Formats: sequence, structure tokens, C-alpha cells
Amino acid sequence: MSKEAQENLAERKMRFLFALRSKGVTDARTLNAMEAIDRGRFVRGLFSERAYEDMPLPIACGQTISQPSVVGLMTQALKVGSRDTVLEIGTGSGYQAAVLSQLARRVYTVDRHRRLARDSEALFAALSIPNIVTIAGDGSRGLPDQAPFDRILVTAAAEDPPGPLLAQLKIGGIMVLPVGQSDTVQSLIRVQRLESGFDYEELRPVRFVPLVEGMASD
Ligand code: SAH
Repeated sequence: MSKEAQENLAERKMRFLFALRSKGVTDARTLNAMEAIDRGRFVRGLFSERAYEDMPLPIACGQTISQPSVVGLMTQALKVGSRDTVLEIGTGSGYQAAVLSQLARRVYTVDRHRRLARDSEALFAALSIPNIVTIAGDGSRGLPDQAPFDRILVTAAAEDPPGPLLAQLKIGGIMVLPVGQSDTVQSLIRVQRLESGFDYEELRPVRFVPLVEGMASD
């Protein structure tokens, strides 16, 4: 890369972090994690030019990599501790899992598209990220063998919080997820498991692809 191209990239990355702050991503650990993980590695082909802009972009299998400010707001809402085990449903490009990997002890990430799980796993290896376990599976059932989790993040929208995911949250644990019908406005909510029952908090309107039950064919 030429010196000019390098400077240009550095400037775009600086603007990327500035845009995150201006949209309310203020948590220092989250910003550090997002500075450490290069979104450009998770976007391929034509769209890689736009990796540092605050917009969702298309990825393989008709899915999308979320808008960076939404990744930041969801990550900070999850309040991940350095000893936490996190479950992410909806690996997609792998970007959100990579950001979480900087904050947690271990991240399990599940996608119903084998191809997305496989490509993300290869990318985590190429980036020498050791603490992500990538699984091709139906995340609406959670991951009973590894449960319970300190934190759960769902990056596809269900009509209601899936029962198996609520059941796989530790007491005191937090889950952040979009809920609502697809193609209409969904709400990002935060659920905390209490000694008995759950506490629900509505955070902001969002728009995600739907959580679909069962495995995809690719
Ligand atoms: N977190 C991703 C973006 C996710 S897009 C990123 O950082 O790029 C939503 C993803 O959820 C898609 O990849 C889709 O295949 C996946 N998905 C939808 N329903 C699912 C289910 N039941 N189990 C696992 N993954 C699911």
C-alpha cells in the first residue's frame, strides 16, 4: 500500500471511531475493542471500500454485517466482563464476535448458514483470535451443552425472546436482542435474569434480519 493510501486508511479509521462516539458509543472498553478489530477484514469485494462508514453492508448468504454504531451500542449494553463467557446468535461476517472476543474470556458464536460459520472461523484463525468457538447450528435453541452463559447477544430479530435462550442465561446474566416482526421497526431490548424472573428494558429502535428456525441449506 502506498504512503498516501495508508494515510487515507488511518484517517478513515479515525473518522470511524469519531462517528461511533458521536452516536453514543462512549464506553472506553468497547471503543478500544472496535479500534483493535479492523472491520475492513470482515467485508468482502465491492463493499470493502465502505467498511469504515457507519452503515450495514451485504455479506454472503443474503445476510448483512450490522452498522458499526449498532455493534457498539449493543456491545456496551451487554456490559461484558473479562471473565465472562458470551454466546452470540448470528455469526454473519464474524465482526461482532471478534469485537466481543476482545472483552470476554470466551465467545461461542452460532450461525444457521454453514458457509458463514466456516468463513468466519477461518478469518478468526487468520487474525489469530484464539477465544472464539464457531458453530454451525440453529441458534434459536441456544447451546445447551455449553450453558449457562454470563451474556447472550442475538443479532437477528425474533418476535419474542426465545425461551431456550432465556433458560441458558445465568442468574444475574444479561441478554441483548432485537425483538419484533421483521420488516417493521424492531426494538433492541436488554433482559437481565433475576433470582426469580426477568427484568426487561427497551433500549432503542433497530432493524435486523429475522431469526429463522432450523439450519439453512448452505
Ligand atoms: N453479527 C453479524 C451480523 C448478523 S446478521 C456480524 O457481525 O456480521 C444475522 C445472522 O443471523 C445471519 O448470518 C443469519 O444467518 C443468522 N441467523 C438467523 N437465524 C438464525 C438462527 N436461528 N440460528 C443461528 N443464526 C441465525
